[in-house]
Amino acid sequence: MSNYIVLVKQVPDVSQITDNAFDPETGTLVRSRLASVINELDAQALAFANKMRQDSSDEAGKIIALSMGPPMAEEVLRYSLSRSADIVILLTDRALGGADTVATANPLAFAIRKIVKEILKNDNDYYVITGMQSVDGDTAQVPAQIAEELNLPCIAYVTDAQFKNNRFEFTRIISGGSQIVAAKKLPAVITVAKYEYPLFATFSRTRWANKTQVIHWAASDINAAHIGVTGSKTSVIRVFPPGKSTRKCQQISDAESLAKILVESFKSGNGQAGKNGQAQAPQYVLPNKRASLFNRNFEGTKKEQADYEILSGKLQKLGITRTNQIDDSSKEKILEAAGEHFHKKALEDMIEGFKLAKPSFEGEVWIVAEHSDGVVHPATFELIGKARELADSLETKVGVVIAGFNIEAMSKELIAAGADSIYIIEDKLLGVFDPTAHRKAIADAISTYWPQIVLYAATPQGRMLAPMVSYRVSCGLTADCTGLDIKDSSRKGDIGLLLQTRPALGGNVMATIRTKNSRSQMATARPGVMKRIPPDPSRKGKIIRHKVKLTEDDVNLEIIKTELGTGQVDFNADVIVSGGKGMQSRDNYEQLLSLLCDAMSKRLDTQVERGASRAAVEQGFIERVHQVGQTGTSIGPKLYVALGISGAIQHMIGVANTETIVAINSDPNAPIFKQCDYYIVGTVEDIVPSLVQALE
Ligand SMILES: Cc1cc2nc3c(=O)[nH]c(=O)nc-3n(C[C@H](O)[C@H](O)[C@H](O)COP(=O)(O)OP(=O)(O)OC[C@H]3O[C@@H](n4cnc5c(N)ncnc54)[C@H](O)[C@@H]3O)c2cc1C
Repeated sequence: MSNYIVLVKQVPDVSQITDNAFDPETGTLVRSRLASVINELDAQALAFANKMRQDSSDEAGKIIALSMGPPMAEEVLRYSLSRSADIVILLTDRALGGADTVATANPLAFAIRKIVKEILKNDNDYYVITGMQSVDGDTAQVPAQIAEELNLPCIAYVTDAQFKNNRFEFTRIISGGSQIVAAKKLPAVITVAKYEYPLFATFSRTRWANKTQVIHWAASDINAAHIGVTGSKTSVIRVFPPGKSTRKCQQISDAESLAKILVESFKSGNGQAGKNGQAQAPQYVLPNKRASLFNRNFEGTKKEQADYEILSGKLQKLGITRTNQIDDSSKEKILEAAGEHFHKKALEDMIEGFKLAKPSFEGEVWIVAEHSDGVVHPATFELIGKARELADSLETKVGVVIAGFNIEAMSKELIAAGADSIYIIEDKLLGVFDPTAHRKAIADAISTYWPQIVLYAATPQGRMLAPMVSYRVSCGLTADCTGLDIKDSSRKGDIGLLLQTRPALGGNVMATIRTKNSRSQMATARPGVMKRIPPDPSRKGKIIRHKVKLTEDDVNLEIIKTELGTGQVDFNADVIVSGGKGMQSRDNYEQLLSLLCDAMSKRLDTQVERGASRAAVEQGFIERVHQVGQTGTSIGPKLYVALGISGAIQHMIGVANTETIVAINSDPNAPIFKQCDYYIVGTVEDIVPSLVQALE
C-alpha cells in the first residue's frame, strides 16, 4: 500500500496581476494587492495523487498534504482536505521566511522525514508528489533538491501514470519527445507538469475540511539544517520591471491587410532577429587591469548604486583615480568630503572595498554538456559562447564536463566552439541520462576541480540535474537565467561575481541574483538567449579523463520506452507556419496548413515548412519532429505564422530569434498577442481561407 505526501504552495494569483501590484520604487510585488491561490500545478499534483491511489485500488493509502508558508497558507491545506487529502500539515515559522530553494527544500525534506517517522510509522512505501514548479518562483528546483536531501529517485515533468504489474509507470516530457519510466525503488519524488482532470469539492467534504485540524509545525519541530535567509545560498540583489517587448504587438483587422503585411515583412526583412539577445554590456575588467578606479562594472541595490555614485564623485573631485592613491592621509580627506552622506563605518567599508583587487571566486568557468546519441544539444554551444566571454573577463579557462558512454568524439566540436578543456566522465552506466547517476558523476568532477562558475542549459534535463548537483556540493543555483554578467559589488568589496538575471512571477518581474556561502556559482540558462560563437576548427584544447566509481545502485530509473521525433523537417526554411491545439483536429491541421503553406510558398516564392506546438503533437495532428519550442526545435525564420497557439513560454522560447511573428487566435486575450508582431483575433477556420484568397 503506497502513501502520498503532496507538497502544496500558496502563491499570488499572477493571472490577475495589475500594474499597481508593484511597488514603483523597488519594483517588488506588493503581495497584499493580489489574491492568494493554490499553485495550479500543485492542485494538479493533488489530483494526480488521488488518481494514483484510485488506479492502484489502494483506498487505504493516505494522502498527506504538506505546505510551508505563513499562517494564512492554511487555506491551501483546507482546499486539499476538501478535495482528497486525509491529513494536512503546515510548516510555519518566521525563521523559515526569505528562503531560497535550498532553504525551502531542506526544511520540507526534514518535515517529510518527520511525517514518515511519526505518521507513516517508518513505512517507506510512499511517493512525494508535487507540481513541477510554482508560479511565483518558477525555478523547478525544490522537488529535485528534496530528492537529493532524502536520497530518493526523482521523476520530473510527469504527465501521466499507469498502474501495471503492481507498480506505476510514468510518462514524462523530455527534450525531443517523451518517455515512460518507473522508479527502481521507493520512495520516489514525482513532479507533475500537466494533469488536466481537476478535483472538485463536495459540500459534505468541504464541511469536513473546515472542521478538520491543520497540524502546525514550527522550525524547532523539524530541526532542519538550512532555513531562512541565513540558510540560503543565493540572495536577490535587485528586482526590476522587465523591459517592454520589442515586438510590435499590432492588431490587424482583416485578412487582406494581413496578407499585405506578410508579403512586406518577408520582402523587407525588417523584423527583429538577433535583437532578443542581451544588450552588449561593456566587458568586465579585473581590478589590476583597470585604467582608473572608476572603470568598474558595478551592480547593487538602488541605495548602493546611489552611494557609489556619490563616493566616486567625491573621489574624482579630490583627484583620486587609482587605488594606490588611497593612503591614510587621503582617506582622512575622503572621510571629510563624503562624511555627511554616510555613517563612518559604511564609508570606511566602501573605501576598503575600492582597494580590494582579488576576485571573490577562483577557478575555471564550466559548462555541463547535454547530448543525446552522440549529438551535442544546441544550448550547450550557446553556453560555451557565453562562458568564453565570462572566462576572458576573469582571465581564466573554459571547461566543459561531459558524462556518458562513447562520448569522446564530441570533444572536437566542443573545443571548436570555444572550450579550453574537456572533462570526460565515461561509464556504461551513464549511457542514458539517469538523474542520480549523472548527478553523482558531475558533482564528483566539480568537487575535484572546483570551477568558479558552472552553467547548465535550462532544458528539462539541465533543470533536473543542476539542482541535484548544486545541492550535493552545497552551492547556490539560479534557475532559467536570461542574463549572466560579471560585476563587482563595491560596498562589500566583492570582486568579479557572476550576477544572474532571470524572470520571475511568470515574467512579470526580473531579478538579479548572486551566490553566497558557496565555493562555486551555478546557474541554468535559458536556451536561445545566449549566442553561440562561430566554430573555429583550428582551436586546440586539453582532454582530461575523470573517473567516478558508479554501481547499478546509482541508477534509479528504469526506462521503459522513449519516443523521439523521427523524419525530416527543414527548419532552415525562411517561412514556418505552425499549428497548435486550436487547430481542433488532424484533418483541420492538414487541410488549413496545406492551403496556407502552398499559398505563401507561391506568393513569396520560397520554401515554407510546417511546425507545431507540443500540444498539437500530443493531439496527434502531426509527427513530433515538427515540434517547435523548448523540448522541440528552436528556430529563427524570417517569418513565423502561429495558428491556434496560445503562446506558452516553452513554445515562445523556441521562436525568440524569428524576425517577424504573426498569430491567429480566437481568444482576444491570448498571451501570444503580447509576444508577436501582428495578430488577428478570429478562428483559423474563418481567417485562413480568406488569407489564402488574399495571398492568391
Ligand atoms: C517541460 C515542458 C516542456 C515543454 N516544451 C514545449 C515545446 O517545446 N513546445 C511547445 O509548443 N510546448 C511545450 N510545452 C507545453 C506548453 O507549456 C504548452 O502547453 C503548449 O505550448 C500549448 O500548446 P498550444 O498553444 O497549441 O495549446 P493551448 O495552450 O491549448 O492553446 C490553444 C490555443 O488555440 C486557440 N484556439 C482554440 N480554438 C481556436 C480556433 N478555432 N481558431 C483559432 N484559435 C483557436 C485558443 O484560444 C488557445 O489560445 C512544454 C511544457 C513543459 C512543462
